[in-house]
Amino acid sequence: MTGDITVISGPTAVGKGTLVTELRNRYPEVYVSISATTRSPRPGEIDKVHYYFIDDAAFDRLIAEDGLLEWAEVHGNTRYGTPREPVLQAVAHGKRVILEIDLQGARQVREKLPEAKSIFVLPPDLDALMERLTRRGTETPEQIERRLSTASYELAHKNEFDHIVVNDDLGQAVDELVRLIGL
Ligand code: 5GP
Repeated sequence: MTGDITVISGPTAVGKGTLVTELRNRYPEVYVSISATTRSPRPGEIDKVHYYFIDDAAFDRLIAEDGLLEWAEVHGNTRYGTPREPVLQAVAHGKRVILEIDLQGARQVREKLPEAKSIFVLPPDLDALMERLTRRGTETPEQIERRLSTASYELAHKNEFDHIVVNDDLGQAVDELVRLIGL
């Protein structure tokens, strides 16, 4: 049953969000988990659509009541986690479920649900990653620095994943995801 869960990870600004959005446009029946996070919304991000934007106390409560399938502190000071119930319900209803989470979260899911598939999205090259992150313009220089250091750590562990997809051409990368997820 947990074979229906696919974890998608990859370094910051690699375009995971765009890939998943495109995948959902093609396959609206796929359930994409909405994470909880303690970070503030970026311009254009909507609460309960892109994330559940919550404060530290609410995140603590979620942990205390065992409401998260996995959670991690990413980029040093921000917590992100996958609400457990909606994911288990989607799986129980026979849906394909996608979790777009970081390396630490991917490790926790692998431990708890060994049948889940995992996919790591690679940038065509590191310069492209740096350029995207800088161009996005939503992070301060310190935040960019921190995200790049997380990225190099994550890149060094890409072989922990079942599959690797290079996000060079969006259409091709989505085709590849579709094939790997088995849609
Ligand atoms: P961003 O702040 O750019 O939206 O996301 C930062 C990082 O947090 C990304 O690597 C993303 O995959 C990860 N992330 C988002 N949601 C979750 C989650 O629920 N759990 C974990 N472990 N990581 C998450």
